[in-house]
Amino acid sequence: MIIVMKTGASLKEVSAVLKQIETHGFKPHVSKGEETTVIGVIGDERKIDQANFATLPGVDRVIPVLKPYKLASRDFRKKDTVVAVGEVSVGGGTFTVMAGPCAVESAEQTLECARKVKKAGALVLRGGAFKPRTSPYAFQGLGREGLEILAEARKETGLPVITEVMTVEDVPLVAEFADILQIGARNSQNFNLLDAVGRQEKPVLLKRGLSGTIEELLLSAEYILSRGNPNVILCERGIRTFEKATRNTLDIAAVPVLKKLSHLPVVIDPSHATGVRDYVAPLARAAAAVGADGVLIEVHPHPEKALCDGPQSLTPDMLEALMHELRAVTKAVGLHLPKC
Ligand code: PEP
Ligand code: MN
Repeated sequence: MIIVMKTGASLKEVSAVLKQIETHGFKPHVSKGEETTVIGVIGDERKIDQANFATLPGVDRVIPVLKPYKLASRDFRKKDTVVAVGEVSVGGGTFTVMAGPCAVESAEQTLECARKVKKAGALVLRGGAFKPRTSPYAFQGLGREGLEILAEARKETGLPVITEVMTVEDVPLVAEFADILQIGARNSQNFNLLDAVGRQEKPVLLKRGLSGTIEELLLSAEYILSRGNPNVILCERGIRTFEKATRNTLDIAAVPVLKKLSHLPVVIDPSHATGVRDYVAPLARAAAAVGADGVLIEVHPHPEKALCDGPQSLTPDMLEALMHELRAVTKAVGLHLPKC
């Protein structure tokens, strides 16, 4: 349930409500707006009587949350969440382009790519050091060395980096190097991993599972939020359908649906959604048109030599051309595309 405090409720009144929640064995989550404070009460609501709270001093109203996710819900927070990554923001009317190779393959490849995506206008560098590969014989990433290369690229270009973490044990290591931790589609419902990234402070980009529903995605986000990390970015990266012309099927409707149900920022990954370079730009433009908060795009300086996902990687020149198109689309729909 959600307790909305009256405008101008005193600190003392808020503290009394928090104390009462804790006395009942529940965990309060406080969201302070400009005018009102909203308190989420997390736990099995059947065990709590709402009437006990409605009459407390300073309480305006008590709203039951019927959805299975609470902290991720628009009911809990009306305003869009903006995730700050250093000086870059994800959400709140900005369209953020994150770009880079599927995998960190070498220092030369990553640095060349980082310089070029920065020149094109990307604000965040992507690159996998730990790669979830379908085949155990495929390139699995450089691990720690890959993280060190990403840190070098950040140092040179100033771009914050996003990279995937695949296991609970690797969370401290990846969090030491990354600015955003990525939870991949295959781990979208790895609840132990969600728990671990929820207990650390770096922002998390959470991908939708291969066959995950929107509700499942929001429940996965709820794991992270309920463990204390409010900085979650949702990512639609295509889902499995009967269609074989593209690697996955981009669920473009997921953006307005998620925006209606949740306050969290939503980005689109048109690269994994399609698996085909030629379709990436049209879907990135669609992402801007539908009101997504950004895109996560694979770019490789020499896609024909890529160790992973070459066929869906844009060249830096293609990214540059796309950025011009995105400028027009974002302008048309009232989104801000920052200049780098
Ligand atoms: C990736 O972004 O590198 C990746 C593996 O994507 P996904 O988890 O969406 O397949
Ligand atoms: Mn990839």
